[in-house]
Amino acid sequence: MEFEPVIGLEVHAQLLTKSKLFCGCSTEFNAPANANVCPVCAGHPGTLPVLNAKAVEFALKAALALNCRVSPKSVFARKNYFYPDLPKGYQISQYDQPLCEEGHLDVELEGGVIRRIGLTRIHMEEDAGKSVHQQGYSLVNLNRAATPLIEIVSKPEIRSPEEAGAYLRKLRAVLMYLDVCDGNMQEGSFRCDANVSVKPVGSPTLGTRAEIKNVNSFRFVEKAIEYEINRQIQLIQSGGKVVQETRTYDSGKNVTISMRGKEEAHDYRYFPDPDLVPIAVTEAQLAAARASLPELPDQKRDRFVGLGIPAYDAAVITSSKRLAQFCEDAVAHCGEARAVANWVTGEMLRLLKQDEREVDDLTMKPSDLGTLVKLIKAGTISNTIAKTVFEEMYKSGQGPESIVREKGLVQISDTSAILQAIDKVIAGNSSQVAEYRSGKDKVFGFLVGQVMKQMGGKANPGVVNELLKKRLTENG
Ligand code: ADP
Ligand code: MG
Ligand code: ZN
Repeated sequence: MEFEPVIGLEVHAQLLTKSKLFCGCSTEFNAPANANVCPVCAGHPGTLPVLNAKAVEFALKAALALNCRVSPKSVFARKNYFYPDLPKGYQISQYDQPLCEEGHLDVELEGGVIRRIGLTRIHMEEDAGKSVHQQGYSLVNLNRAATPLIEIVSKPEIRSPEEAGAYLRKLRAVLMYLDVCDGNMQEGSFRCDANVSVKPVGSPTLGTRAEIKNVNSFRFVEKAIEYEINRQIQLIQSGGKVVQETRTYDSGKNVTISMRGKEEAHDYRYFPDPDLVPIAVTEAQLAAARASLPELPDQKRDRFVGLGIPAYDAAVITSSKRLAQFCEDAVAHCGEARAVANWVTGEMLRLLKQDEREVDDLTMKPSDLGTLVKLIKAGTISNTIAKTVFEEMYKSGQGPESIVREKGLVQISDTSAILQAIDKVIAGNSSQVAEYRSGKDKVFGFLVGQVMKQMGGKANPGVVNELLKKRLTENG
């Protein structure tokens, strides 16, 4: 029997507010342990939570960007469970009345295919603290306790590990465009639980799922899902049954491991939090959130295509807000969108990948890339030389003009210097010259190459072509 996978993703994104969800404590990540804690987020009896308005504003922006329906009224609920890093004994979350329902995200796959992945809901909740396990004892750090999160729940509509990866990358990009989440996976600002099941191909009923918790990189999410799909298929084929459970991923061994049986919602004894009033989103709030939406990745991609950038390049560039901004600034400087896109998706991404660096690490200025493109257009340097200049710009952050000057890379269009080189080449390659003159056009390329070599690669190829052709026919 053939099986197909079904995947649903739950993403927790930390909202970029300065203070926590229900108190004034700072959300700074690198503070000393338990420096950002007060009686409210430490769960002392008698304290009362007060909702952070900025967090609601950020959640609304995310909801609108993800095409969700915002509920006019939503309710915080207590999710009860015991864990040392959860001082109140319950997490404030949302349950049957979430902030928003029904949305979708369009995801671009290999070959430009676009798939729409449905969202079930987005709700607001507080984060837990962090347990740090030592030899024989554990420590608790409550700095992160009660920092604001949104949980974005996809429908079980994702069909492969690659689609899951594409969905997560796109979702992260959208949240970063909105400036509501910093997207930092290492620090846990963007975390994902992957629900995976398999079913016979074409079957309308979903199989039993396993939930893989908190995998902290896109590549590992894809690998964990792939492993889990194969595990379930093999289990079923060998007569076994998938059990609903929570699993963890060991990236070193590339396996998922059972952690615990999956709890059901009723285990949490959810009930509306009596300390918090419902969130009532007004039309005015919604309108303000809508008006504050920036240009999003898809819109930016379409606009870039309109500037003459090929669709694939435009999608690559707009997948990162910072990369897109870099391009935008370079284009503003030189007006050559296509050329800029070429440099960015070609040389720049190649070098960044090779060095495992990010756009943020660049010392090269966008305006310098613009200038480089201008220098090529004006014929000051050739494309080949520009590559050398670009690498130097990338390495040192120096501007292109001073690199060209210091290294003497200016392209030579001076006809007398080029003519001298041409005469030398004609004198030194009489058999090829004779071939050309007898009608074998093919050797022309070879002769051009020889002239360029004579000129140390710096001659203007257009001028070389023109002069060489003329010379060869003149003296024929
Ligand atoms: P829970 O409340 O236990 O977390 P939900 O019904 O809210 O469960 O679903 C959580 C996630 O699991 C969603 O992203 C959903 O798409 C996904 N999911 C639900 N059923 C399946 C299934 N059979 N296979 C794969 N994913 C599933
Ligand atoms: Mg869940
Ligand atoms: Zn606090």
